[in-house]
Amino acid sequence: MRKLFWEDAYLKEFDATVVKVEGNNVWLDQTAFNGRGGGLPGDVGWLNDVKVIDSIKNNDDVIHVLEKTAFKEGDKVHGKLDWEKRYKIMRMHTAAHLLIGLMSKEGLLVTGNQLGYEESRMDFNMEILDKEKILKYVEVANEIAAKGGKVNIYFMKREDALKDKGLIKMAAAMPPEVEEWRIVDIGIDKQPDGGVHVADLKEIGRIKITKFENKGKNNRRLYFVLE
Ligand SMILES: [Zn+2]
Repeated sequence: MRKLFWEDAYLKEFDATVVKVEGNNVWLDQTAFNGRGGGLPGDVGWLNDVKVIDSIKNNDDVIHVLEKTAFKEGDKVHGKLDWEKRYKIMRMHTAAHLLIGLMSKEGLLVTGNQLGYEESRMDFNMEILDKEKILKYVEVANEIAAKGGKVNIYFMKREDALKDKGLIKMAAAMPPEVEEWRIVDIGIDKQPDGGVHVADLKEIGRIKITKFENKGKNNRRLYFVLE
């Protein structure tokens, strides 16, 4: 399956051919729908006039979950993303990378994140929650975002990623059978990543922390929105 969302994250509509159908689940030869995974919700939208209520990453494929049974193998469809939702996730995703970059430079390990349309959350290791410190990182993040900067996405061979200081930790944790990694590089942070991002840090807007939570030993959680 051709990942149109990798070639152009701003592609809102596309044409495709149905290659497989199982009940309400549809596979296409190419798609702009980015499947749920890595803390990102699956894209929603339409195939012709049938609603796509979820999309799920399935190995190297994307399963389009329809609201009802439709289509058969070989059908031509016109796909359309719910762009408002998708663009919010792109902004949230790049914002999360910016925070991860700043926090990990200070030795804080981000252990997970769940991005939402209105609010996102991020878990990180910190023995005693230091809100002031985190708010400082957010301030720096907002300065960087306001200045802007290109989000660079490129492919790298596993052996080269293992030689790269900024990538070695994560590259080593990746399954060895994948030989080429898609790298998302925003300057302050660089990591193997299969998701969708904005093209420029300027598009993030302003990050605002809405809540902190303690989630057990060492584990802290923050919630943020974009303004
Ligand atoms: Zn990511």
